[in-house]
Amino acid sequence: MLDADFFRRWMAATATAVDREADHLTELDSAIGDADHGSNLQRGFTAVAAVLEKDAPATPGAVLTLAGRQLISTVGGASGPLYGTLLRRTGKALGEAAEVDRDRLARAFAEGVAAVGQLGGAQAGDKTMMDALLPAAEALGSSFRGAADAARAGAGATVPLQARKGRASYLGERSIGHQDPGATSAALLVEALAETAA
Ligand code: ADP
Ligand code: MG
Ligand code: MG
Repeated sequence: MLDADFFRRWMAATATAVDREADHLTELDSAIGDADHGSNLQRGFTAVAAVLEKDAPATPGAVLTLAGRQLISTVGGASGPLYGTLLRRTGKALGEAAEVDRDRLARAFAEGVAAVGQLGGAQAGDKTMMDALLPAAEALGSSFRGAADAARAGAGATVPLQARKGRASYLGERSIGHQDPGATSAALLVEALAETAA
């Protein structure tokens, strides 16, 4: 079973991964965006890790809703509200349980991903974080490792796509041939989940 401490460790592992990959994320965003995705998420997840260390919410749901709120308030740019919504809605769907199993997390995460889709209007194939999140949510019903692998494959599969949402869509056909930064960071989030569960 997954308790509040597990969810705090997941967020801390995400912060570490984002720190490590910040330059790479910014490089990807410099090709088809405005070169700030790494620094945006670094600021956001550093703040998330800090507030979770200070407050230590008692339930998985409370950990994710606090993390989501922190992202929304610290990250300017599209990714802040989108990731904030993902974590808040996932947290809300987990309710007040002290512990949850993977199945329950998978259902809650799917609700969170659907909320990102509603907020941003992106569907599969639009070359956004949804291209990693949707397959991850589906695979999380079977295993943590499968979810991480699906997210990574989904991020890789954004390379030949033309962006239809977000800043990259302004480039039209010139967005083809580059991996989407948000799909890449979404894969880091799900990889951190799998590592925390391993
Ligand atoms: P900004 O584009 O405001 O500078 P970031 O660089 O932090 O924000 O994040 C860019 C990423 O956000 C993109 O690579 C994409 O994955 C994601 N994104 C942008 N717009 C949307 C949207 N409408 N729906 C889903 N994801 C989006
Ligand atoms: Mg950007
Ligand atoms: Mg920006």
